[in-house]
Amino acid sequence: MPLPPIDTDYLLEFLSRLLNTPSPTGYVHRAIDFTEETLQAFPELQISFTRKGALVARWPGRQDDIPRALTAHADTLGAMVKEIKSNGRLKLTKIGGFAWNTVEGEGCTVFCRSGEDVRGSLLLEKASGHVYGALVNDLKREDDNMEVRLDARTASEEETSQLGVEVGDFVAFDPRVEITNGFVRSRHLDDKACVACIVAGVKALHDAGLQPAQTTSLLISNYEEVGHGAAAGIPPEAAELVAVDMAAVGNGQTSDEFHATLCVKDSGGPYHHGLSERLRGLAEEHGIPHKVDIYPYYGSDGEAFWRAGGDVAVALIGPGVDASHNYERTHLEALVATTQWVIAYLLS
Ligand SMILES: [Zn+2]
Repeated sequence: MPLPPIDTDYLLEFLSRLLNTPSPTGYVHRAIDFTEETLQAFPELQISFTRKGALVARWPGRQDDIPRALTAHADTLGAMVKEIKSNGRLKLTKIGGFAWNTVEGEGCTVFCRSGEDVRGSLLLEKASGHVYGALVNDLKREDDNMEVRLDARTASEEETSQLGVEVGDFVAFDPRVEITNGFVRSRHLDDKACVACIVAGVKALHDAGLQPAQTTSLLISNYEEVGHGAAAGIPPEAAELVAVDMAAVGNGQTSDEFHATLCVKDSGGPYHHGLSERLRGLAEEHGIPHKVDIYPYYGSDGEAFWRAGGDVAVALIGPGVDASHNYERTHLEALVATTQWVIAYLLS
């Protein structure tokens, strides 16, 4: 049976709106709420939330003897206000694993407790070439050398406090979403691209009047970037878990921006061979453009569940994303391939 068609306009529209919804780990409610609103269009899904704030959509299948789960994460890299400096600027602490140079010069938003959002940009503390000369090149990009310059009149700790900014406020970096010739260039395609693939997969089955072969729970997790996202939220009866997360593109990697990848091993070791082989067979059967790869510095929510004691088969698939945890890019072809793979698994 051929796979049902995917509404690519819908996929890109949802993805673009999700990318533009800030959601650093710990401050993910806006992205979770937006995903919930979108999934409300599919009454066959039973939506609930974990106490930790993740979204779970239970999707009754034609059978219920080998229940399944799929997961993708809505949280992203970001930062938190560590200190208000005496000059009114902010020192940050990172949320998730990234290098400061990947966000140097980027616009950002500080989410204050009052509900105010304060805009600014992340810069090297000694940023002006005319003032600091070679230091602009030589200074190490580390916490103490980076600061947020707020777009507000402040030159002291007191004036910044009066804006409502406090230690512990979350900070999100601008995603700068741009879609050109099928390329999607943005921060945080990890893992919003895969949330979009799952949502587009739900819509494809819904529009075709199909239901999954097995009852399937969709977990949109909210703490993946710090390592424990899907540790909770997968129903205990689930026998299989397919984590949908970006594939790492770079020198020596088979992954690219035009294919979906099956990851067979990452920093956490090998994935489940039997489930991985089944997914590989489905990709071959349906002619889904795919690669098989190993990611050198990578962990997934599938492993988070394994480490938490989850007794399931776990596999990992996802679209190739260039320059991951940096200014990322993928292509619609990889998104479609990933969505097809999700659909083929759901129907199998
Ligand atoms: Zn990820």
